[in-house]
Amino acid sequence: MQLKEQLFQTTQSRFGCSPDQCDDHQLYEALLILTRNMAQNRPAPQGDRKLYYFSAEFLMGKLLSNNLLALGLYREVKELLADLGRDLGVIESMEPEPSLGNGGLGRLAACFLDSIAALGLPGDGVGLNYHYGLFRQQFDNNRQVEAPDPWMEPDNWLIPTGVSFDVPFGGFDLKAVLYDIAIPGANNGCSNRLHLFDVAQPAGKPWVGIGFDKGDIAHRLTSFLYPDDSDEAGRLLRVYQQYFMVSAGAQLILSELEGRGYGMDALADHVVVQINDTHPSMVIPELIRLLTGRGMSFDDALDQVRRTCAYTNHTILAEALEKWPLAFIEKVAPQLVPVIQELDRRMKLDHPDPKLAILDGEGRVHMAHMDIHCGFSVNGVAALHTEILKNSELKPFCDIYPEKFNNKTNGVTFRRWLEACNPELAGLIDSCIGPDWRKDAQKLEGLLDHQEDGALLDRLLTVKQSKKDHLCRVLWAAQHIELDPQSVFDIQVKRLHEYKRQQMNALYIIQKYLEIKAGTLPERPVTVLFGAKAAPAYVMAKRIIHLILCLQQLIDQDPQVRPWLRVAMVENYNVTWAERLIPACDISEQISLASKEASGTGNMKFMANGAITLGTMDGANVEIAQLVGAENIYTFGQPSDTVIGLYQGGEPDGRSYRPLDYYHRPEVERLVDFLVSPELLAIGDPAELSALWKDMKTKDWFMALLDVEDYIAAKDRCLKDYGDRRAWAKKMLVNIAKSGYFSSDRTIGQYNQDIWRLK
Ligand SMILES: *Cc1c(COP(=O)(O)O)cnc(C)c1O
Repeated sequence: MQLKEQLFQTTQSRFGCSPDQCDDHQLYEALLILTRNMAQNRPAPQGDRKLYYFSAEFLMGKLLSNNLLALGLYREVKELLADLGRDLGVIESMEPEPSLGNGGLGRLAACFLDSIAALGLPGDGVGLNYHYGLFRQQFDNNRQVEAPDPWMEPDNWLIPTGVSFDVPFGGFDLKAVLYDIAIPGANNGCSNRLHLFDVAQPAGKPWVGIGFDKGDIAHRLTSFLYPDDSDEAGRLLRVYQQYFMVSAGAQLILSELEGRGYGMDALADHVVVQINDTHPSMVIPELIRLLTGRGMSFDDALDQVRRTCAYTNHTILAEALEKWPLAFIEKVAPQLVPVIQELDRRMKLDHPDPKLAILDGEGRVHMAHMDIHCGFSVNGVAALHTEILKNSELKPFCDIYPEKFNNKTNGVTFRRWLEACNPELAGLIDSCIGPDWRKDAQKLEGLLDHQEDGALLDRLLTVKQSKKDHLCRVLWAAQHIELDPQSVFDIQVKRLHEYKRQQMNALYIIQKYLEIKAGTLPERPVTVLFGAKAAPAYVMAKRIIHLILCLQQLIDQDPQVRPWLRVAMVENYNVTWAERLIPACDISEQISLASKEASGTGNMKFMANGAITLGTMDGANVEIAQLVGAENIYTFGQPSDTVIGLYQGGEPDGRSYRPLDYYHRPEVERLVDFLVSPELLAIGDPAELSALWKDMKTKDWFMALLDVEDYIAAKDRCLKDYGDRRAWAKKMLVNIAKSGYFSSDRTIGQYNQDIWRLK
């Protein structure tokens, strides 16, 4: 049947009217149903070996356009709607974003599902169906306030499956009910699934804000993504969530294995489990428990699991490496305790070094250690990150299992992050090198042959300007922020964390502000845009948001500074905002302290959209720099080995870095002290600003003061070079041309070749 008729039938049966009589939301619902059914009815990719990608987070973003693109219906639907006098963009804005992830890690999982399906590989995601996504961020009085983010409207992407599993907790059982989201592969007729488990009787609204009864496991287990872990109940709930996810997921794996006609001893031949960070690590003891429960010996079960499970490490920040007290696991899943103890005993027999222990002297389970001992692969997510894992962080493990360690540099799906969010640029690329790059992003390199094409370079600048104009319009509509679209758009959007150093960017703003006040105008008007959520319990991160919002207000009120320097923080940064901000960016801020950002993926999305990176030699920035060459990126700051050295030393905090030494440089002191200047104290909360000021000069754990002068110089260089528009456009072209390496299709191809071996 024609799409047009299908749409007519859907609106007729649902709303009793034809499409042209539907309001925007009804049209959205009708398209959702049509698209969902088509994606659902496609067969799974063929294969004798299947991947299960376990992740506590899948930051999917809106799915309508994405799925229409994958189904090959995007253009047809757009035209059909246009005939009705409607705009697909407006219809899509009706869709609430499923924000089932915090940031990069969850977004990576979503890009990976897209690429696994696009490559026609048999692989499903396994996660949890959080009823509220990451909180909705609001600004009130220059502070972040958290509100619940319900995303599940009565009609949504979830498909009930009728499948459920019993999950045994200490003292009670809970039924895990399975919902699926179909993941259509781009233009290949197949769909995979994202399996999301939920409790059978989820509770309704939270009490106040995002507060809820963390003890009410039976009804609240899937209420929120990563609830506030600052208190015991929150941390315990997280262990409940993790065990619920992996127990149900492991049962699903074994029942599908059986369904395919295989015995349990064929597990490792037909299944591979990728553990995305340590949140799903309990899948290892759970699989062993289930296999031994079916009569397999512990030896054989361990052997199967060791050939089935692979682990991805995402961080070397010590505070982010999960170590759960065994007492928690005793309470949540007592049946796992003897399994973990036995694993620990066996590993200690072969490897008595306490640095390698699963169970440490304080009765804590080191999840990553369990993954490395009991899996066949450990991968880092960018070349530098993997080297740091091998040479310092996980060196003792690399010494005993060198063959397990490998690198898989992250990637992003160009279907969402270029084709869908920047059709204007995609069309320009088509007109230059044809559409083959849409199937193989590395073909973007063909653009390198057109570096001297002045007309192309001009059109590149025109597209960028149109995306900046568009961003200005949506920002005005959403937040009544008015920006100068002719200014340079310098954008830092990512989670708020001290290691990402938004505070260093704030020091740059202060430097420019003071300079303008003193009568020195910058090279050209610049707009510094931020978007970032802070974890609700992360006090220092919230103080940095407060600082940025106070600077925004200060400058807004200052007619002398405003024409030259603007600061704007986007409320509730999420995938949808990313899709608007990234195409509009001139300068991509990737300024983490070297060695601390495992990879970053924002950096890749910006590059593909023709932004120039201003960054440290950290994470995948290192690979970007190698690809584009020194003249097409602005790097600055101390390198990772220097930084790693500064974390070792004789100061009371164990480092050799002394922030006061840097603070006392006259240029730096002036900037830091501005945090407690009368101007700023008149706007912000004196206690918060003073606390931030004090921390910056005496602690500065992520060394903003180490790099700030170099950073300011690099950014000023960048702003100067921006003036030569042709030369700048050429840099943009080279960045786009070289960005293909960062397609998640390439990343997934490598996972498949080196780790999964699906086909
Ligand atoms: C890509 C993305 C991230 C990750 O950004 P980084 O700069 O790599 O930290 C976080 N949040 C959203 C919404 C994203 O789209």
